[in-house]
Amino acid sequence: MRRVAIVGRPNVGKSTLFNRLVGRRRAIVDDTPGVTRDIREQPAQLGDLAFMLLDTAGWETAGGEALEARMRRFTERAIESSDVVLFLIDARSGILPLDESFASWLRKRSAKVILVANKCEGRAGQQGLAEAHGLGLGEPIPVSAEHGEGLSDLHEALGRHVEPMPDEDEVADAEVVDPDLDDVPEGRPLLLAIVGRPNVGKSTLLNRLVGEERVLTGPEAGITRDSIRVEWEWKGRPVRLVDTAGMRRRSRIDAKLEAASVADSLDTIRLADVVVVVLDAADMAEKQDLNIAGWVIEEGRALVIAVNKTDLLADDQSGSAKQWRKLRDRLEMSFAQVKDVAIVGFSALTGRGVDRLLPKVFETYEIWNKRVTTPKLNRWLREMETLHPPPLASNGRRIRLRFMTQIKRRPPTFILSVSQPQELGNDYLRFLTNRLRDDFDMPGVPIRLSMRKPK
Ligand code: GDP
Ligand code: GDP
Repeated sequence: MRRVAIVGRPNVGKSTLFNRLVGRRRAIVDDTPGVTRDIREQPAQLGDLAFMLLDTAGWETAGGEALEARMRRFTERAIESSDVVLFLIDARSGILPLDESFASWLRKRSAKVILVANKCEGRAGQQGLAEAHGLGLGEPIPVSAEHGEGLSDLHEALGRHVEPMPDEDEVADAEVVDPDLDDVPEGRPLLLAIVGRPNVGKSTLLNRLVGEERVLTGPEAGITRDSIRVEWEWKGRPVRLVDTAGMRRRSRIDAKLEAASVADSLDTIRLADVVVVVLDAADMAEKQDLNIAGWVIEEGRALVIAVNKTDLLADDQSGSAKQWRKLRDRLEMSFAQVKDVAIVGFSALTGRGVDRLLPKVFETYEIWNKRVTTPKLNRWLREMETLHPPPLASNGRRIRLRFMTQIKRRPPTFILSVSQPQELGNDYLRFLTNRLRDDFDMPGVPIRLSMRKPK
């Protein structure tokens, strides 16, 4: 079984996360400060992942050395004795010098480090989360150890290093492993983000969208002062716009703010269910537009491309048809992982066509939430195996596709249990992903498919 350690400076929430993963309060230990103690382990579980979690209690108070030296010594041992390190930071207090020196030190070790930003419940910790990008340890995973939020993303990150539990009957037991797979609570609003370069017409679009509905706006308690909560209903279904503050900031952008704005957009994207990337019909799909859309896909959000200012398009039919084709081609070429992205054209200024946007948004949202049952998937997998047998492994034996299951929705995420994952090859995975998309009708959303080796 793999071993996982949680490291980080005091008070970031290590014990809280430890308790959550171990699933019970840690037993009171008979530690006397100053007495050298061994790192102990406890079995822990997250979804279908089972691992040993290193007990980090007590190191901060043990010994007489300076905090940093103690932390270093402890972490050194944790790295030595574990397969994966969860490096925890406190997103509310932001990155402190001690976090920084640790990050740079961890970077130099070849350890497998997952950067986890704690205390991110609700909308909290955005600042720290943005700063955490600068640590050079990859994408921080926002969680709240106390409230149990963000655990499915942590599950996903850990899943790259930790095998799922060995099961008597893999297929039956692997069915539901993620609370996310349950239905979304009734009445939860669709979290919508509208992003895009400055001046493409985001604000105009927003006004148009909410102007036509009865809107609830205004500063609310608990939200930062310069953010306004925009909530409305579309055909009785609640919609909430995320990060309007960022939107306002971005509209008066200057070059120096560019980097901050990128981090901003990333945060907005990460908070959303569906992201509408607004393009300007006059210069469709510039590099920056494609970059933004690329992040949306990478972040696993549902993407809708909105082409605004269609009132400026060529008047004649063939002229504008040509421009549309060009846009589609560019998108298809740029995002091989996502076929048939939803594209809607309109003029936010005149209002023409804007009514097509929300139906597309909800349609994409449904697909993004899609659930395919394990029996269906496995019947399909047997069909695929017959239709297009997997290649022979280098030892001459045919690679066996054992079974497949959906471990997560939002976006649809599947694991495939394969006898020799390293030999299957990307072409075959791409074939499966494309067929999965076609056969289960999931156009336009990122589909994640990863391989597992059976126990
Ligand atoms: P450790 O020193 O790293 O082990 O941190 P603890 O687990 O003892 O937590 C330090 C403080 O942060 C405690 O007061 C916790 O209640 C609090 N805390 C832990 N996780 C969270 C969280 O997700 N959100 C918030 N707001 N507070 C948290
Ligand atoms: P933002 O920076 O993305 O929020 O863009 P704005 O909503 O502030 O719009 C930038 C400019 O584009 C403004 O002058 C708008 O009037 C104009 N604009 C927005 N939508 C349209 C449209 O559909 N057609 C035309 N012709 N102009 C538009």
